[in-house]
Amino acid sequence: MDSIWDLASQQLRDLAVYEPGKPIEETARELGVDPSEVVKLASNENPLGPSPKAITAVQNAIGQAQLYPDGGAFYLREALAKRLGLARGNLILGAGSNEIIEFLAHAFLRADDNIVTSKHAFVAYKLVAKLFGAQTIEAPSPDFRHHLDAILAAITPRTRLVFIANPNNPTGTLVSQEEIDQFMSRVPGTIVTVFDEAYYEFLDDPPDTLRYVKDGRNVIVLRTFSKIHGLASLRVGYGIARPELIAVLQKTRQPFNVTGIGQIAALAALDDQDHQARTKRVIDEGRVYLSNELRSMKLEFIPGTGNFIMADVGDGRAVFQELLARRIIVRPMRGYDLAPWVRITIGTMEQNRKCVAALREVLKTAPGSA
Ligand code: PMP
Repeated sequence: MDSIWDLASQQLRDLAVYEPGKPIEETARELGVDPSEVVKLASNENPLGPSPKAITAVQNAIGQAQLYPDGGAFYLREALAKRLGLARGNLILGAGSNEIIEFLAHAFLRADDNIVTSKHAFVAYKLVAKLFGAQTIEAPSPDFRHHLDAILAAITPRTRLVFIANPNNPTGTLVSQEEIDQFMSRVPGTIVTVFDEAYYEFLDDPPDTLRYVKDGRNVIVLRTFSKIHGLASLRVGYGIARPELIAVLQKTRQPFNVTGIGQIAALAALDDQDHQARTKRVIDEGRVYLSNELRSMKLEFIPGTGNFIMADVGDGRAVFQELLARRIIVRPMRGYDLAPWVRITIGTMEQNRKCVAALREVLKTAPGSA
């Protein structure tokens, strides 16, 4: 018999699959330790856990798990619309914002089309494009930032989607309002621009991209409940766009893509201002601490604007392995063509201190040795 690969879509053969952060349980099993001894700073998760209001809401809702969810997610879309000063028709929900990236590909990408993004941009765009037989053009980024003029210059007649991660994961860099406004004044109207704002709530002074949604431009803004709200496991993300664009995407969505429990948790988390504020405080404090420590270790690093920091440790894979042996999980960056770097999610101060102590041990730099 021929290989099953001969029967499958050709683009799947050399598709690299997304490499998630190493799970706590797997690490604990391999090291023969209790999972509670492992510190995971590998997936930009919320170190404080889920919104407590979401936990209570889920506990109350679990007894209704026999019912299919409201596929239209009326209450959650209504609450988000109210919060954003928009209408329900401006919103689509996904099983994480990742699923909305896939909706965009279903709706707009055909074989031999292309997407344009930046080098070192969040890898999901490239993987999804490939799945649909489309090419990815990466604009140069010698200083790890997105250069929107380079992105514009890379656009071809076959470009359908442009992805701008703001801030970007893994680099943490941010493009400014002025850069966005310049870009929007020049991007062709036939292209859908995606502003991926998964880390929006961590920003002190976030650029406003919703103005372009309100202006009826071909723009979609992606946000998520996975980060500041601490609900990554429940898979709830959302897209914000003009109603016509949302209507196109709705056609690509499976009827019950977001669970009822996820919707209920998200609704409660949205109202939990206290948890959001506490999380931002912990991240801001941790960013300062980790930046100071990395500086004193004489490492090059990008403090970033999200809940993670990228540091040049010489050999990212080797340092990842050494930290793993010390029960700290970070993320090596070779998949992003950043082999010398690791990405460290900002944790609680206790987790940050453990990470720094382990890193000093691995790199043999004593505290205050700078
Ligand atoms: N965009 C960016 C930039 C991200 O870093 C992530 C999570 N790693 C996502 C989107 C997807 O997150 P989720 O699907 O959990 O909403």
